[in-house]
Amino acid sequence: MVVGLYPLLEINLSKLKQNIDALQKKCSEWMLEPVAVTKGFCADYKITDLLFDAGIRSFADSNLSNLLKLIDRFGNKAQYQLIRLPMKEEIEAIIENQIIPMVSQLEILNLFSEKAKQLHAQPSVILAIETGDGREGFLPEEVLENIKQIASLDHIAIIGIGTSLACLSGVLPQISTLEQLCSLRNQLKPIFHNPHLFVSVGGTTFFSLWEDYNHTPKVDQIRCGEAFLFGSDMSRKRNLSWLQQGAFHIEAEIVEIKSKKPDSSNRGFDAFGRVCEISCEKNYPRKRALVAIGLQDIDDTQLFFKDRNVTIVGATSNYLVLDCEESRHDFRIGDLVRFQAGYGTVLRAFLSPYIQKRYIE
Ligand SMILES: *Cc1c(COP(=O)(O)O)cnc(C)c1O
Repeated sequence: MVVGLYPLLEINLSKLKQNIDALQKKCSEWMLEPVAVTKGFCADYKITDLLFDAGIRSFADSNLSNLLKLIDRFGNKAQYQLIRLPMKEEIEAIIENQIIPMVSQLEILNLFSEKAKQLHAQPSVILAIETGDGREGFLPEEVLENIKQIASLDHIAIIGIGTSLACLSGVLPQISTLEQLCSLRNQLKPIFHNPHLFVSVGGTTFFSLWEDYNHTPKVDQIRCGEAFLFGSDMSRKRNLSWLQQGAFHIEAEIVEIKSKKPDSSNRGFDAFGRVCEISCEKNYPRKRALVAIGLQDIDDTQLFFKDRNVTIVGATSNYLVLDCEESRHDFRIGDLVRFQAGYGTVLRAFLSPYIQKRYIE
């Protein structure tokens, strides 16, 4: 049970709708199919309905439970991709629900094929291809080395190849990344007897290849979440000019205002075992506001305050601590503070049972 109204996440549906429309328009100019990635907001129906009503018919999530939620909502009117490599125990549910998984191991392809035979099904699968991030995927040469075995799995249909960049290592996509994928696709088409074998790229970081070049190699799909949710591209620390920012805000209440001087002797680690760095150049004591929200609900590096004179000192599980010594505003106990929320914060806020949601049209 949640008591009271705060802390809350405010979701501006009209901004999101404008972003989704802009995304559809750009993708159609660039001849790309947008695949909406829903993991950042737990596949919340208010947002997925906006996507569906705008004409989006492909959804992707890294959590099977979110995809099942979407299937309950849209049934066979849309396609669903599982973009985290499947666990063995998920295989049966994936096949039964006609979800399209990304797969990067021969062993798992074999399991899909065996299970499909038992279930008299023919699941579609996307091969994950590694293009430099050091996260998931077959190396292109690995696909080619094992091509006979992959092609001999008659109970599964390989419908596409897909890659992800700028996730783990921040490796940015290049035109050559697309060229490499297209060339692999062309080699694979005849072997898989599939003239429609598609190329799928993600996430949002890939948009710059269409924004910055005129003759971008032709690929089929872009999987994105950050673009339409936040209008930004974190991998380049930039906003996308054709999208809007600020669709999500956090509001929470100040529960203490006092001047504080942290003791600088005898210091161990913080509540999460991290090294504490306290800046010595500031003249303490300084006025601090404690806000009733914490790392259980938000990511303190993904919260943005309008007043530049207020800085985030840090956060514990339950508190966010602000330094408001330099602010001209007279913060009082019981005041609400309002932050623009970035990806990490929205992700946690949707997962936290302590956060209320307010949708504005
Ligand atoms: C999260 C994710 C995406 C979407 O990335 P954004 O940066 O949010 O656009 C795309 N593909 C995969 C495999 C992902 O895990």
